[in-house]
Amino acid sequence: MSTKTRFAPSPTGYLHVGGARTALFSWLHARKHGGKYVLRIEDTDLQRSTTESINAILEAMTWLGLEYDEGPFYQTKRFDRYNEVIDELLEKNLAYRCNCPKERLETLREGQMARKEKPRYDGHCRGLSIEATEPHVIRFRNPDEGTVVVDDQVRGKIVFSNNELDDLIVRRTDGSPTYNLTVVVDDSDMGITDVIRGDDHVNNTPRQINILKALGKEPPRYAHVPMILGDDGSRLSKRHGAVSVMEYRNQGILPEALLNYLVRLGWSHGDEELFTLDQMVELFAIEDVNKAASAFNTEKLLWINQHYIKQSEPARIARLLSPHMGNLGIDPAEGPDLVEVARQQQERAKTLVEMAEISAFFYRDFDEFESKAAKKHLKAAALEPLQQVRQKLAALDSWVGEELHQVVIDVSASLSLNMGKVAQPLRVAVAGRAASPGIDVTLELVGREACLRRIDKALAYINHRVEEQAS
Ligand code: GLU
Repeated sequence: MSTKTRFAPSPTGYLHVGGARTALFSWLHARKHGGKYVLRIEDTDLQRSTTESINAILEAMTWLGLEYDEGPFYQTKRFDRYNEVIDELLEKNLAYRCNCPKERLETLREGQMARKEKPRYDGHCRGLSIEATEPHVIRFRNPDEGTVVVDDQVRGKIVFSNNELDDLIVRRTDGSPTYNLTVVVDDSDMGITDVIRGDDHVNNTPRQINILKALGKEPPRYAHVPMILGDDGSRLSKRHGAVSVMEYRNQGILPEALLNYLVRLGWSHGDEELFTLDQMVELFAIEDVNKAASAFNTEKLLWINQHYIKQSEPARIARLLSPHMGNLGIDPAEGPDLVEVARQQQERAKTLVEMAEISAFFYRDFDEFESKAAKKHLKAAALEPLQQVRQKLAALDSWVGEELHQVVIDVSASLSLNMGKVAQPLRVAVAGRAASPGIDVTLELVGREACLRRIDKALAYINHRVEEQAS
């Protein structure tokens, strides 16, 4: 049977990075084996599932580029099918109606807890014949004896004793099917060969295998991947920073960087850190995923992101940068070509948000010079160089890099200064900060009017400072 994996999120919130990693591992496993990848939305919890969450999950999957071959399938559209299977179980005596009142179940539970036993249903209704017209739940008749062996592709062999598992509810009193039943029906109907999911589902696996066996179906292979921890060793949560995939987009992370980062959380190939999607498909093996939980490391994500920002085509970076400029209230159409700006800034930013911040000066005047840079470079010694530069710039006929550069060279020569003593004050004057692309490119992209205006502002700033110091 050809490989088929699935990603089966419950739409009760955004797509968490842990979920995204599971989605990626499933996707890689399918692609590696030339198989198919299914997206299934497990929306049977009507109270907690929302359309916004479904949209958020679909948007995140699209952004990550984890395209699916089948789906999205919605479990809420398959209730007839689940009921058909439940009826089949009932008919074959593999499931039964139970009308135990809540009070009975509570007393049972309390007694078991008091005896330090694991709380479980005692099978009270197994032999009773309860009418379908009475309020009831349906329970799966779990085998009493024997074991369930899970050959987990990540965790190895796990053995469960049937006498530890109870007769789980497969249909609630309101007629809705429960998680373990719907997953089993879907995995089987959809021909899933490999179930790759979070290890919070390990204990569901023997129950699911028992239901599958009762239905005469071959269970799929399972792989339970460990959770992601925060840097303090506790389960990754909002308290550690961003956990939603789309929040990473909003923070200016590239999708390939997040995927590359996520694949390395729990999987490795030698000492390599950087993998393109194609390399991941080639090298990834689910059996190589670590059993132990891995910790999220934001610094590493930023390092990987910077790598991909540097590697990307400027046109693509510009396209992705544009909304971040918009967030700063800047319309890139009203200034220099954003592709050129992106090309110049690619080496300088770890995220697109940072790139937008350090590129804002190309599009609008800044309120203040960065204080450290101003303190260092906008001082009395810079007055003369800046005045000369301003004069020469104002006299230029054209505004192109080479000639702009020549101005800096000429002024340095005439004042016998090294070029930095001219270029740095000029940079702070025009960019507001001590770091920017080459001075010629910076001047050219900022444009004549804005450059002259900002140099005047810098001169005024220096004069004011000199006066203050004199008084
Ligand atoms: N819907 C489940 C969840 O979001 C996953 C179920 C599964 O992968 O079997 O946790």
